[in-house]
Amino acid sequence: MERRKSRKVYVGDVAIGGDAPISIQSMLNTKTTDVEGCIAQIERLKAAGCDLIRLAVPDEASAEAFGEIVKRTGLPLIADVHYSYKLAHLALKNGARKLRMNPGNMTDFSEIKELSKRLVDLNVPVRVGVNGGSLAPKFAGMDEVDALTESALECAEVFERHGMRNIVIAIKHSDTMTNIAANRKLVAMCDYPLHIGVTEAGALKTGLIKSAIGVGTLLQEGIGDTVRVSLSADVVEEVYAANKILRTLGLRRGVDVVACPTCARTQIDVEGLANKIEELTANINKPLRISVLGCPLNGIGEGKGSDLGIAGGKDSSVLLVDGEIFKTVKNCDLLEEFEMLLKNNLQNI
Ligand code: SF4
Repeated sequence: MERRKSRKVYVGDVAIGGDAPISIQSMLNTKTTDVEGCIAQIERLKAAGCDLIRLAVPDEASAEAFGEIVKRTGLPLIADVHYSYKLAHLALKNGARKLRMNPGNMTDFSEIKELSKRLVDLNVPVRVGVNGGSLAPKFAGMDEVDALTESALECAEVFERHGMRNIVIAIKHSDTMTNIAANRKLVAMCDYPLHIGVTEAGALKTGLIKSAIGVGTLLQEGIGDTVRVSLSADVVEEVYAANKILRTLGLRRGVDVVACPTCARTQIDVEGLANKIEELTANINKPLRISVLGCPLNGIGEGKGSDLGIAGGKDSSVLLVDGEIFKTVKNCDLLEEFEMLLKNNLQNI
């Protein structure tokens, strides 16, 4: 698929837009003033494969804590300040490498001039992030798709007028189809790199489906430079989901774990094994197909197209390499044996 051409901006050493790989981002749900809690969550997000991390900066104490977290992690962190110029300047002073502002919550744009100057001097980009739920009152009654795009472009234009080029736009709506329509409209009107995601997508089961459709549809049309899957769930689930969407569309290399739906022939804990293998391989960016199948009847045949596989048996199961039987192991040793096999094979890829 051909990606839309967009300008490139940098968040520290992570590029967004242009020919940069599509990055994955998430947002902490710990209180920013809880420095230890934030650092622990950042470490989990990094281990899950998150490229960019955003923290809310709702007050001055959070801006101070933000600075401490920047120092301790050394990462290019994003400050979500929504509307307060004072907090934006404080976050920049404390090392923010990108700001998120929400034009819907900004009562006036008069201080954008000073903020733009500082952003340009620091080479820090801004994300103009518009949400369906927080559009400015002046857009009331307007078609939502038009209002979302107009709000984003109007704010971006004010930053541009004051010399800012490093602008990312996000238009998000909790209705998946409105979200898609607004982003499609926006791309015809600008070359800003886009942060995409379905906002308030919901708890895990619903949120995953809405995000897969909302984000996946846009990505398949070449739209989107950085992705956040918004879930009411453990933050690492957002990263696993974004990773899966990108890998499914062939936009990121990684491990593909296929597992059978199980049936009366199933001999092993397919779900448990598949989940465990997903966890083990979440941050591996090598192209590898692993199959977990519950019985020897179909398992060996279905595993033919896999690099590594398991075909369950009554007391013993079969490990497959390149679709061929490699070894028979006792079921009680299955996971441990598979982990060893995986480790050895990763060295050879
Ligand atoms: S692979 Fe075997 S256990 Fe799994 S669904 Fe198919 S027949 Fe059932």
